[in-house]
Amino acid sequence: MSKVFVITGPSGVGKGTLIARLLERVPGLELSISATTREPREGEVDGRDYHFLAPDEFDRRIAAEDFIEFATYSGHRYGTLRSEVRNRLEEGHSVVLEIEVQGARQVRAAMRESVQVFIAPPDPASLRRRLESRGTDSLEAIDARLEVAEQEMAAQGEFAHTVVNDDLDRAADELEGIVRAEIGIPLDSGANDQTTR
Ligand code: 5GP
Repeated sequence: MSKVFVITGPSGVGKGTLIARLLERVPGLELSISATTREPREGEVDGRDYHFLAPDEFDRRIAAEDFIEFATYSGHRYGTLRSEVRNRLEEGHSVVLEIEVQGARQVRAAMRESVQVFIAPPDPASLRRRLESRGTDSLEAIDARLEVAEQEMAAQGEFAHTVVNDDLDRAADELEGIVRAEIGIPLDSGANDQTTR
């Protein structure tokens, strides 16, 4: 059964790493590529990591109602294009959205059947550590992200599922379990089963 999975949580919590594991482990699951007005980071590729749009192009796409949801985050806009989700669902795939909390709320309102997962840090200090060690943002940008993170943490109770990223392997197993249960693909005892330790 094709479903839309919304995976949210504060910047630096490890959403990207957990989602990369999830996509490797669960067949038929695809990531929606978001649009953003922020500049590409080193190594990011247009069309693979994001659709990088100029602000006026982003506005045009809003006016054309091309977005399922969009939000401003830390001074830049981010949004999910309808075509990204629709095409994948039509091909019979389930779709993962990696988005922030305001966008997650909009998807919840528009697609009540979407499955909403909040990834939480084991403690607030771990967010700063991860953002600093990632080395992709200036100290000012990290402070701005941590300020938003506080508000995002307050929204945790709105989400049907919470996965605490205390340990990457454990959290990846838990997320995989949630997704497999929703789409009805049980964990087989083959190569993908990493739960036996
Ligand atoms: P980053 O700049 O670190 O790539 O992303 C910043 C935040 O924007 C992250 O929390 C990320 O999940 C979120 N984000 C990425 N794409 C989208 C999107 O399409 N919509 C919304 N609402 N947030 C997004």
